[in-house]
Amino acid sequence: MDDFRADLHCHSTCSDGSDEPEELLHLAKKAYLKGLSITDHDTMAAYSPKLFALADELGIQLITGVEVSSELEGLPVHILGYGLDLNAASFLTKIQDLRIERNRAILKKLSEKKMPIDEKELNFPVVGRPHIASLMVKKGYVSSISEAFSKFLKDGASCYAKGFKYQPNEVIDFIHAAKGKAVLAHPHFYKRSFLNRLIKFSFDGIECYYGNLLKAQEAPILQVAKEKGWLATGGSDYHGKTRNISLGSSWVNFEIFTALTS
Ligand code: AMP
Ligand code: ZN
Ligand code: FE
Ligand code: FE
Repeated sequence: MDDFRADLHCHSTCSDGSDEPEELLHLAKKAYLKGLSITDHDTMAAYSPKLFALADELGIQLITGVEVSSELEGLPVHILGYGLDLNAASFLTKIQDLRIERNRAILKKLSEKKMPIDEKELNFPVVGRPHIASLMVKKGYVSSISEAFSKFLKDGASCYAKGFKYQPNEVIDFIHAAKGKAVLAHPHFYKRSFLNRLIKFSFDGIECYYGNLLKAQEAPILQVAKEKGWLATGGSDYHGKTRNISLGSSWVNFEIFTALTS
């Protein structure tokens, strides 16, 4: 098992990734990965029987995963869930409904600024702001995705709408009720004082290895994992070829991978 590597964080077309779930498995194979979890935003729609069958065929161990949106003190907090029972995760439907409401509020603000987008044009299982940004480019309202975010869609910008989000402790409870493990995603995004508040919650793990994160940035997070006795997880957060991160750029070994489903 020395050569076992599993990427535990990536997105498919079921949320804002640009590769189909099946393509992710083929890419994983090319990257010599032996394990994978597809962690779409607020949905596990990727996990069809067909996907598990293809994983078997390719010799890749697939564990269920999801990246759930939550909020603490008005700031977004992403929580990864692993090994959830697909039949026991109805909380995701509720979160998806809240997302639809949030997206409608964004579209309303855009339309008030003479940048109309019909809800029907956002034809994805789970719609994220990147989908809206990309339509704004397509319609010529802005010249790039980054302009769409910086002028209109980023947190606090004129066409941003937050919508209702659950607190981290609520999301952790939902994940545990679905027999999954809860992991704090990309903790290096947060200021230390905020991170110190987040690590008071009952996570099972923390994402120590991420994308192209430098060793020096991993170290303080590994220290948290050690102090808390949490699983030190990792993954690329691959979203597709358009971004500068490849699948398998961060990974975990067999021991961590199996601990997530035990
Ligand atoms: P949502 O979950 O719909 O609120 O969208 C969040 C996603 O939007 C994140 O996962 C990022 O991929 C993307 N995003 C957030 N802020 C920015 C930004 N300033 N520039 C580009 N992409 C962003
Ligand atoms: Zn995303
Ligand atoms: Fe995230
Ligand atoms: Fe992600």
